[in-house]
Formats: sequence, C-alpha cells, structure tokens
Amino acid sequence: MKTIGIQGIAYDDKSSFLKGAAKAPAAIRKTLHSGSSNYFTELGINIDTPQIADHGDFEVEEYFDIESITRDNLNKTNRLLTLGGDHSITYPVVKAISQSHGALEILHLDAHSDLYHQFEGDPYSHACPFARIMEEGLATRLVQVGVRALTDHQREQIAKFKVEVHEMRNLRSLFELQFNGPLYLSLDMDVFDPAFAPGVSHHEPGGLSPREALNIIQRLASPMVGADVVEYNPLRDQSEITASLAAKMMREILGKMLAA
Ligand code: MN
Ligand code: MN
Repeated sequence: MKTIGIQGIAYDDKSSFLKGAAKAPAAIRKTLHSGSSNYFTELGINIDTPQIADHGDFEVEEYFDIESITRDNLNKTNRLLTLGGDHSITYPVVKAISQSHGALEILHLDAHSDLYHQFEGDPYSHACPFARIMEEGLATRLVQVGVRALTDHQREQIAKFKVEVHEMRNLRSLFELQFNGPLYLSLDMDVFDPAFAPGVSHHEPGGLSPREALNIIQRLASPMVGADVVEYNPLRDQSEITASLAAKMMREILGKMLAA
C-alpha cells in the first residue's frame, strides 16, 4: 500500500535574492536516480519500495495553488515529502498537512529564522513562512536549529511566537530533540555550511555539517507526517555537490517516514 508520497513544487517566485530553486525538484530526483548511490538509508531502510509513490513535479501559477496541489496529493498518500522550491512553499504545504493531521510540531533546520512579518512588502516571501504558520496556529511547537543570521526584528518574532531556537553558535555536535505529536521536518539547504552546500541562494558561513544534520534526523523518534527539502539552487551548484547532499537528505528523511 502506498502511504508516503513525494511531490515537487517547482516554484521560486517568492525568492528575494536569486531565482533558481524552481529547478531543484528535477535536479534532486535526477541525482537520486542517477545510480551514483543506492536506495538504502544509513539505518538500513530501503526507499525503493511500493509504499512510496512519486506524484511528480508541479508547476505553480498562483502561490496558494500550492495548498490545493498538496491537498490533492494528500488524498492519494496521507504523508508527504515535498521538494521545493524556495522556502515560501512551506506555509501552504503545512496548511494542507495540518488540515489532515491536526496542529503539528515542526523541526526547522535553516540558517535563517524565516519569521519576518513581511519582507520587501510581501507577507508570503520566503523570509516569512514561519510567521504565517505560527499566527494561524498550524504548529503547537516550532523548534529551529542552525540559525545564524538573526535580526532584532526576528528576535522579537521568536519571543512573540515562543519559538525554541538552537542557534548555530551554541550547537553541540551530538544533538537529540524530543517531540511528542505528529512531526513536520522542514530542511532549508542553507542550514549547511556553504562549503558542503554551495548550491543555495543565500550563503551563510559557519553552518551545519552533513553528519550533524544526519545525526539530528536519525535520532528523531516521533512519527513524521510531512517534510520538505527546500532552497536548493542548481544554478549556484558546483559539481552537483549540493544535489547529492539534497538527494541523500531526501533518502534519509523518506527512511524515517517509512520507519514510523
Ligand atoms: Mn529558509
Ligand atoms: Mn535559509
């Protein structure tokens, strides 16, 4: 039975700095299926299984079409991994997922808090999705890891929405996070140090290593009902190094979803 779906959202209209993330879903899939690696996760789960359905990539005209696309795909498989796209996609995706699963706990890995009330006049900018999610009560808890570019405004938003932030400067290398309810994981590829992931629009040095992120994800014990991998920008990549990291993270996340 197919229980987990993959959807690609080819959308970067809400990127404030550089375009290119719309090309990510196709590039990540290509790398995943290139034969350069296999389909087993490090924890021994085979993601090449009929339990996973790939719903394909979707072109988006209007921002809120992302919500209806996600709802359609949730009707086929009630848990979803979304390939972005810029980070603006997370708000409409989480909106649809919370309608089927109830308010979520969210683990958000990112160099940025993405909590701006509005950015350059747009409340739906890729700098804003978590402000919208928290305002609407779509999450009971937001835990951010790897953040290292906070402004005064974002610190105020963190206090206002009671976000649990593990700033990069304070991070211990082995990291265990406890969640209780249905979990949504949002992975912005710029959480990684640009040395490991040059293919992102916003380079913010001093970030996570792939091993640190894998440790965090592999230790999660709560059932993961949804996840996204966003902000990969193939136009900035070198030797597809970031594509291979995104594909590996996709594999490990799918393995976690299957194991739940
Ligand atoms: Mn982000
Ligand atoms: Mn970011």
